[in-house]
Amino acid sequence: MTVEHFDLISIGSGSAGRRVAVAMHNAGWKTAIVEKDVENHFGGTCICTGCIPTKALIEKVKMTGDFQQAKVHKERIVERIRSGTLRHVEERAKGRVIRGFGSLVDKNTIKVVKDDGAEELYSADIIVIATGSKSFIPPVEGLRESHYITSREILEIEEVPKRLLIIGAGRIGLEFGQLFHELGSEVTVFEGFPHIFANAEDFEMSDIIQEYLEKKGMKIFTGKFVDKVSEKKLDDGSYEFTVTLNDGPHKGEYTGDVLLVATGRRPNIEGLNLESAGIEVERGAIKVDEYLQTSQEGIFAIGDVRGNPMFTNWASYQSGLLLKNFKKSKNDQTKWSPMPEKVFPRIAFVQPEFASVGMTEEQAREKYGDDVVTYKYRNKWLGKSMIVDDWDGILKGVGRKGSDEILGAHLWGERTGSLVQMIVLAMENGLGWTNLNDLVYGHPVLVEGIYSLAGNMKGLTSK
Ligand SMILES: Cc1cc2nc3c(=O)[nH]c(=O)nc-3n(C[C@H](O)[C@H](O)[C@H](O)COP(=O)(O)OP(=O)(O)OC[C@H]3O[C@@H](n4cnc5c(N)ncnc54)[C@H](O)[C@@H]3O)c2cc1C
Repeated sequence: MTVEHFDLISIGSGSAGRRVAVAMHNAGWKTAIVEKDVENHFGGTCICTGCIPTKALIEKVKMTGDFQQAKVHKERIVERIRSGTLRHVEERAKGRVIRGFGSLVDKNTIKVVKDDGAEELYSADIIVIATGSKSFIPPVEGLRESHYITSREILEIEEVPKRLLIIGAGRIGLEFGQLFHELGSEVTVFEGFPHIFANAEDFEMSDIIQEYLEKKGMKIFTGKFVDKVSEKKLDDGSYEFTVTLNDGPHKGEYTGDVLLVATGRRPNIEGLNLESAGIEVERGAIKVDEYLQTSQEGIFAIGDVRGNPMFTNWASYQSGLLLKNFKKSKNDQTKWSPMPEKVFPRIAFVQPEFASVGMTEEQAREKYGDDVVTYKYRNKWLGKSMIVDDWDGILKGVGRKGSDEILGAHLWGERTGSLVQMIVLAMENGLGWTNLNDLVYGHPVLVEGIYSLAGNMKGLTSK
């Protein structure tokens, strides 16, 4: 079998793998992208089954309240971006896309298995593993044998379910839960941790948002992991699911027509044959050094396959670091820059949006104890928020006495997913609350909320 040689091959066409392969191709390297599902998944999870389709549904339902219109909108956008990205890579950039499932044979060789079972071998000086992640299904009695669905299948659902059960109140579970609740489903969400967002966000803000969603009519049971799942096949061929909580304040059995499992994601490492190239795995994710290189020289891992945090912005940033380093040198590490500490926003597209950056109050208190101060600015005090009907939103700042440093911001309100970027810019560049407060803002605009939050934080931290 002849083995075609490349400078670089990325396994995975998502936000992580695609960018580095295309950029280095444009820089004159011979590169290729291996993708196992080009027809449905070129461009990866974000474009095909993650960020873009979910937000397309959420936005269109917000505008029209109509699920079928939202589905058409979502499909149109996904197909446009997926096929446009493929065309851009193959036709415009004349980049190479290899169709099939990639795995390692040794440190420089990749085997690609095509859909018909045929096998091809390719070699490369540099291999980038960017195979993303998949839904994690927890070991709950009866769950794995049941006809549950994940974020991938719920995107294809034909009708709005009458009763939707969701295991997991992270970003994905809550975004789908609220979407279908708005469309008329009776939604019950089960979360094992005491706070929604799996205890990973500011507790006070998480509880405020939970209360808001509950007031709107969603049932959210926190602090108790699901004990059991069972299902019954109905005459029409569909299933009725029962989720059981054995104890706690919500002890009982809950039935529904659709069961969505949204309990986090795990790196996609199965079948990659990592051992053959001597690549170490730590807690289910590929281990890398400060240059994102695995335990095998010349093989890198970026994006979700590295484990948490799993966000597109994070995957793209890692890709950007690799391509900057490769442009300096293919293999001379002394010319490379290590992965810096970056400030990055974490956004949940519940409505209104919840965008966080930096430390939660709990994390700040652990580090600075009683010096920590917080302030909550209520959007109902702001003209533009009233204009856009955001009466509930709250912008919370976290700082410490005697310092102007922004430790964290937790912004819940209309379009905070965009507004948070202003805080990211400030934190990344060492600017403080005073800098944010000492600007002339437009009026009436939502970002004036940040002006007011910063003004109050400036007052509290300077005491
Ligand atoms: C429902 C949902 C909503 C999300 N919403 C957001 C959001 O709003 N904002 C945000 O920042 N992030 C969001 N994310 C997370 C985001 O989608 C991921 O962090 C991001 O896509 C990771 O990019 P990646 O390149 O690492 O992996 P992926 O985009 O998953 O790309 C990996 C690619 O590799 C292919 N592949 C896997 N194994 C092989 C193999 N062996 N051979 C060949 N090809 C292979 C896969 O088919 C896939 O196309 C969401 C995720 C989900 C599931």
